[in-house]
Amino acid sequence: MVAKIVDGKKMAAEIAEDLAVKIAKLSQKPHLAVVLVGDCEASLIYVRNKKKAAESIGMKCSVHHLAERTSEKELLDLLEKLNNDKDVNGIIVQMPLPEHIDSDKVLEAIALAKDVDGFCPYNMGLLHANSKNATVPATPKAVLYMLEHTLGNISGKHAVIIGRSNIVGRPLASLLLNSDCTVTIGHKQSVDLQKLTAQADILVSACGVPQMVDEKWVKDGATVIDVGITRVDGKICGDVDFAKVAEKAEFITPVPGGVGPMTVAMLLENTWLAYKKQNKLG
Ligand code: NAD
Repeated sequence: MVAKIVDGKKMAAEIAEDLAVKIAKLSQKPHLAVVLVGDCEASLIYVRNKKKAAESIGMKCSVHHLAERTSEKELLDLLEKLNNDKDVNGIIVQMPLPEHIDSDKVLEAIALAKDVDGFCPYNMGLLHANSKNATVPATPKAVLYMLEHTLGNISGKHAVIIGRSNIVGRPLASLLLNSDCTVTIGHKQSVDLQKLTAQADILVSACGVPQMVDEKWVKDGATVIDVGITRVDGKICGDVDFAKVAEKAEFITPVPGGVGPMTVAMLLENTWLAYKKQNKLG
């Protein structure tokens, strides 16, 4: 194997430790409210992990677990209550929501100052406009952190992203553009995507197709970040064929232990930043 591993688990532990030290000094702890509708198995696991991670650094985390049949109005009422609750600093609504609920309407209902996922349209606009006031969604923020802590300055690099979702591909494209990369976004309808990815200095895959990216997709010496998480035969699997790509790339993230733990760390950091802003701490 040629590539060096970008250890997301280790980076995330360092960020958590740093936040824990800051939070230990506070009498009133930052409070993250998590709203979950229904009993989707993956969502239950994600929410449990977020709560555990928040509490492990001394944050308060309340989970509002609503029944699948909850109406849109009931959910919006709960969000209004959380928006007005001075004890709550950050609010996230676990996606996906049941089909009878309009998720756009729900995201728009979260107060900007408490939108720690950064998914509400106003926040997205701030990010696309390169505003320093944007709350950057956790997964793209995790990817940028890992790139900058591995490569240093990424200005001028050609970054190719596979995937254009609102939670990963699109905000990541803005973030990398804001960091002076040249950005190409590929997606399911892209023609000859492999030709584009083979030119990338930085290749980020976020398509959810297990092991799709092998050595033929990668330039010699590239940095490869695997965002994909798919369960195959009970095992967590990334978009990248790790063994093959590690022979060609200079840096590579593992799955698990790469972007996943860093995403949770960035959500905690966003909650801490929201707390600081709301309490006018420097
Ligand atoms: P999504 O389904 O919303 O979007 C997938 C994107 O990939 C789409 O834009 C689609 O066009 C593209 N795509 C699909 N198949 C493709 C193909 N064969 N070739 C090229 N492009 C293709 O998914 P998402 O929510 O953005 O998540 C993507 C992956 O990242 C999933 O595996 C998800 O579990 C994972 N994820 C991981 C984290 C983390 O913390 N590591 C966070 C969010 C998402």
